[in-house]
Amino acid sequence: MMHVYLETYGCQMNVADSELVTAILKSGGCEMAETPELADAILLNTCAVREHAEERIIGRVGELAQHKYERPQVIIGVLGCMAQHLGEDLIKRSRFVDIVAGPDSYRRLPGLLERARAEKALDVRLDRRETYDGITPERADGVTAWLTVQRGCDKCCTFCVVPAVRGRERCIPLADLVLRAEKLAAEGVREITLLGQTVSSYTDGEHDFAALLLELARIPELLRIRFTSPYPTDFSPKLIEAMAKCEKIARHVHLPLQSASDAVLKKARRRYTIADYDAVLQALRAAMPGMAVSTDIIAGFHGEGENEFQETCDYIRKARFDFAFMFKYSRRSRTAAWRWQETVDEETKSRRLKTIIDIQEQISREVQQACVGQTARVLVEGVSKREDGWLFGKTSEFRQVVFEDPAARPGDMVDVKVVGATGHTLIGERAGAAK
Ligand code: SF4
Repeated sequence: MMHVYLETYGCQMNVADSELVTAILKSGGCEMAETPELADAILLNTCAVREHAEERIIGRVGELAQHKYERPQVIIGVLGCMAQHLGEDLIKRSRFVDIVAGPDSYRRLPGLLERARAEKALDVRLDRRETYDGITPERADGVTAWLTVQRGCDKCCTFCVVPAVRGRERCIPLADLVLRAEKLAAEGVREITLLGQTVSSYTDGEHDFAALLLELARIPELLRIRFTSPYPTDFSPKLIEAMAKCEKIARHVHLPLQSASDAVLKKARRRYTIADYDAVLQALRAAMPGMAVSTDIIAGFHGEGENEFQETCDYIRKARFDFAFMFKYSRRSRTAAWRWQETVDEETKSRRLKTIIDIQEQISREVQQACVGQTARVLVEGVSKREDGWLFGKTSEFRQVVFEDPAARPGDMVDVKVVGATGHTLIGERAGAAK
């Protein structure tokens, strides 16, 4: 029996894919290893969104190669977006890599592991129909779970490598998702997060995303439903209405902005202007007062001069996001923008990134502080490392809360009085059981 150690990098989609990979490997007769030392095969499930992430993986492969020196039969495999992005070049870049398998090749992993005993194994075929139906991901115990509802992306933003490495958008039928969610609920899951690259554009040909949310909300044991990431202009009035009328749907939306300059948005081939984006943001906040909104912002994309950058700074101040993921633009091959001459130098990108991080961090601190004194409804997720008897969980707005409560258990929904805020965590005191 082959023992496999699996390490995951990148976004939630990769975390969910690793659960899928684990299930496929186990049904193929493998056992999962806790550490690389105990493994016959070491697999890295990777990200290709930024160059830095790829360099990190090459470095990690170099570190893991020590196991090959000690046990030459050890196999090292690279899976996921970076594997798809670099393909055969990955084997050329690192002679220690034995398997290269893209996101649509996971069903064939047991065979690839066998093949890799004798030769390098490469499988980066994209498959427009692969949704991994019939495979139940192998998840760690807990009250929260991912549910992938859509794979691939059809939007083709000029900076983004995802359509090249994850292929065209395809969605899993609503009926299958309901069965999967019911199974998760029966296993004790109380919160699911629906995953898709542009999850709000979900359709199985008959049902849209609003219908999916409402159908899943009918499962009694599920207490909360999240989703990430929606595409801003796929937020139809119908979807906003569905969210507003169903309290189980989390009052948090991650709404990727990227830039607040129309010129930059156009260059990025985002399908909205800043006015369109702002209209969606306002509609969400009007329908669900107090809703938390987070975002993604890129510093230094093509055409971002000082004026365009200031537009983004101004909008961050105006929108007052709860938190944001902010990055310097990283030029990726196999994207439309790859062919363009860069217009912003690295030093300027770094300066701009620091500026927006500073602006946002101040806002995030203020938003956190404003929670002090309020009562928050928290889904308990587990035991906090803070102190004995302390628990942690999240509010509907995706705020992490730690609090002391000897009576509560993971999966309980409890009301917590917020008495303090540190960094990204709220400190609470039990206020009572939620109705
Ligand atoms: S919507 Fe744009 S940024 Fe998001 S995954 Fe698709 S191509 Fe990439």
